[in-house]
Amino acid sequence: MDDTPANLTLLRQMLSARGYSVQVCRTGELAIKSATLMQPDLILLDIKMPELDGYAVCRWLKKHPETAEIPVIFISVLETTEEKVAAFQVGGADYVTKPFQAEEVIARVEHQLIVRRQKAQLELEIRERQATEARLQKSRSLLASVLNSTLDSVSALQAIRDEDGRILDFEWLLANAVAANAAHTNSDTITGQRLLDLMPEYAIIGLFDDLVRVVESGKILNRELCYESDTLCGWFQAIAIKLDDGVTLTFRDITARKQMELALKASNVELQQQANLDGLTQVANRRRFDDYLSETWAYCLKHKRPLSLILGDVDRFKDFNDTYGHQTGDVCLQKVAQTLRGLVQYPDDLVARYGGEEFAIILPQTEAAGAIRVARRLRDAIRQIILYPEGGAEPTSVTISLGVSSLTPISTLNPAALIEAADRALYRAKSEGRDRACWQLVRSLD
Ligand code: GH3
Ligand code: MG
Ligand code: MG
Repeated sequence: MDDTPANLTLLRQMLSARGYSVQVCRTGELAIKSATLMQPDLILLDIKMPELDGYAVCRWLKKHPETAEIPVIFISVLETTEEKVAAFQVGGADYVTKPFQAEEVIARVEHQLIVRRQKAQLELEIRERQATEARLQKSRSLLASVLNSTLDSVSALQAIRDEDGRILDFEWLLANAVAANAAHTNSDTITGQRLLDLMPEYAIIGLFDDLVRVVESGKILNRELCYESDTLCGWFQAIAIKLDDGVTLTFRDITARKQMELALKASNVELQQQANLDGLTQVANRRRFDDYLSETWAYCLKHKRPLSLILGDVDRFKDFNDTYGHQTGDVCLQKVAQTLRGLVQYPDDLVARYGGEEFAIILPQTEAAGAIRVARRLRDAIRQIILYPEGGAEPTSVTISLGVSSLTPISTLNPAALIEAADRALYRAKSEGRDRACWQLVRSLD
């Protein structure tokens, strides 16, 4: 844009000759209209023009967004420094002083076009990067909200190796809120921190070695562990899966399930014990007696150890019931059972209620002499029991007859032979006057 036709013609020829498409305007108003409409790549602008001068045109162009990015090169007789400075102050990109040299104008035009292209390219790259960052941010926050929507603790850990390739530690790549909280920190600051710095107990409970094995072998870790720290306490299922040169580690709180399992186990044990106990006397029942006698027999057979059995039967208990009532009879049986159990001391010994008012005592690894001594001690102790019948009758007592039998088991016999011998001994004790212990040899089969 220039108000001097000769200059304009010269410029147009020069630029057209180099393949540029040139639009010429003779006034500032026309230049503004044309620039807004045509969006040229570059404007060459004279300063001294009638009405709207070059500075005013440039100021207008720079003020309006649709033309603000178009570079403006002033072509004028810029003599003073103030004039040149003003050219830049209004937004000019460069200037050429008149009279101009064709090469200089072309060089400055091309330079501005290159700068503009680079600027456009740079802006495009910045926009693309901003879009990528926005997408990344969105996927990060999506990932964070997925990770934080679970009650499990989730971490991604990267191995830290020494120069020989050994894993010294792990560093966090990411952790959800639950995992970060367990490590006394938060998800934003945990990245880059070392596992053993925040969770030194992992080394103590063997979890660190487990994680190293997962990375080295690629095998999944699935381990239940009882974990206790100031922030976490309970049972957890740890699952670790190899991820590049590290692992993803998930902890699931299974405390409630574990407590239920433990309670169930405890109640099963109790049920089992109940199933083996006699309800009235709280000593072993007949079922337990049968099982234990078989076990003990097998053990003593294998190790060639002696085994003794005592069968005890309360004397004239029918009469006792008839005299003092069934309820006092029950109390009597409870006291007899307690007394027997109190006197039979070795941990392997077993006192059982064999039948109504009959008791059996299994004495593993006990010879006949020892068993007879025990039986006599039992008889003496039962005599000491004092019973207070209901209805105010005089305190009374009971006696017991005992049959003892012993042998070192052999494979041609079975536990029934021992019971049979003890039963015969008991029968003899009864027939010899009761309140005594008798011993009987086990009959061999032949
Ligand atoms: P013996 O000296 O010959 O053994 O005479 P006994 O009366 O003790 O023997 P018998 O077998 O004739 O009677 C046993 C009695 O034991 C019969 C029954 O009333 C009593 N008895 C069995 N079980 C229980 C029980 O659980 N509670 C009570 N109170 N009595 C029982
Ligand atoms: Mg009886
Ligand atoms: Mg009896």
